Amino acid sequence: KVRVRFAPSPTGPLHIGGVRTALFNYLFAKKNNGDFILRIEDTDQTRFVEGAEDYIKESLAWVGMEPDESPWKPGEYGPYRQSERKGMYMQYAQQLVDEGKAYYAFDTPEELDAMRKRLEEAKVANQQYNAITRLQMKNSLTLSEEEVKERIESGDPYVIRLKVPLKEEIRLNDMVRGWVMVHSHTIDDKILMKSDGMPTYHLANVVDDHLMKITHVIRGEEWLPSAPLHVLLYQYLGWEDTMPRFAHLPLLLKPNGNGKLSKRDGDKLGFSVFPLKWTDPNSGDISTGYREDGFLPDAFVNFLAFLGWSPGTEEELFTKEQLIEKFSIEKVGKAGTKFDFDKAKWYNQQYLKEKSDEVLAPVLKAQLDEAGISYDESLLPLICSQLKERITFQNEFLSAGRFFFEAPTEYDEKVIRKKWNDDAKAVLEEYAERCPSAEKFDADSAKKLFSEVLEEKGVGMGKVMPVLRVALSGLGGGPDLMIMLQILGKEEVSNRIKKFIA
Ligand code: GLU
Repeated sequence: KVRVRFAPSPTGPLHIGGVRTALFNYLFAKKNNGDFILRIEDTDQTRFVEGAEDYIKESLAWVGMEPDESPWKPGEYGPYRQSERKGMYMQYAQQLVDEGKAYYAFDTPEELDAMRKRLEEAKVANQQYNAITRLQMKNSLTLSEEEVKERIESGDPYVIRLKVPLKEEIRLNDMVRGWVMVHSHTIDDKILMKSDGMPTYHLANVVDDHLMKITHVIRGEEWLPSAPLHVLLYQYLGWEDTMPRFAHLPLLLKPNGNGKLSKRDGDKLGFSVFPLKWTDPNSGDISTGYREDGFLPDAFVNFLAFLGWSPGTEEELFTKEQLIEKFSIEKVGKAGTKFDFDKAKWYNQQYLKEKSDEVLAPVLKAQLDEAGISYDESLLPLICSQLKERITFQNEFLSAGRFFFEAPTEYDEKVIRKKWNDDAKAVLEEYAERCPSAEKFDADSAKKLFSEVLEEKGVGMGKVMPVLRVALSGLGGGPDLMIMLQILGKEEVSNRIKKFIA
């Protein structure tokens, strides 16, 4: 059975790239009738941030990607927080030490610094702790067995390092990038267990993926350099047969394509890089999120899916169910994808205008209530139908349609300069006179009455329509004028015209 995991570290708010990784895992799992697992990677206590785990939970809930197994919905392979799995890792590190595939290292920070300096002065390109330099350091490969024992027993701090072979080719067949080959001399003897008894990311990640029976590791490209090391760990631990397949997703790039997308790009260009609003517990800084910016979760998901994936056709609108059906790792691109916020807005518009007026009416109602503006509730669906195609976000209803509820106090000067003349005035004056006594005033009858007046005065429709619109809304453009008349009602139309002329 396909089992994939999303494994964020709770070191801050989930970045949009993280949500994209979660989405691709989710789509791949659902497509293959598999399980989508959430594992919290919190072994680095120094980087733990209060509230980050709740933020992850809420973000996944907002986009409708509930994990099948998670810290709050444990399955058979728990616990789902690495900090709660603490006791599980040492035995594997120990196994590697016993088999000569890892070793204890006692070097102090000063000694490590000195080594780096020495290598720098000798102009050695990479100053790594590796198959060559380890021979000059204080570890169980260079110290006598007694001394090692003594040091451990006396409580000397130590780490466990992986004994990376000097000359070996490590290969992996990535589902996105194909064969990746790395020479082991480029990999250093990574720490597996830290001196505080916690595993590092590398060991914990591999051990957990194995114990949790993960079949596919789908993650961001920034983890590709770690992948050969992980392959080596699977080999050393004797887990090669069940090693997961890897798929490294393309980077999200700045809008101009110049480097990785960062929070600063969003700040500069006015968009969010976080799904939800986030208040930093230390600085108190607030970052906005897609949810609070008014994005609909389905639109956000559709947009995210196209950051690195494409169905290979021109179609762009897919519900989550359709994405599940169409998704495949083979169609994930290798090249980084430029982040395009206008596209995100476009998606939101597409989803917003498909929403039913009855669903949108309460949204407008809430905005009116908050602004303390009175309204006729029965008209709200019709008003929404007129506004929804003209806005990008549903929180723009009131600002786009305020004139439906309040008479304008300012009028578009440009239209007045061009269109205001005696003919227009004569028509509007007469129309304002006759409106109140109209028997019916729906869009059709309001239009009929308007046409009658135009005919009597011998003036063409196009000459007066723009001024009528300005008189009613103050604006040069907007929804269908006749439906505006109907919504405003005959008294209000008459009053607004009179006020405009005066
Ligand atoms: N904890 C890592 C992260 O924060 C997980 C990387 C992986 O998926 O292996 O992204």
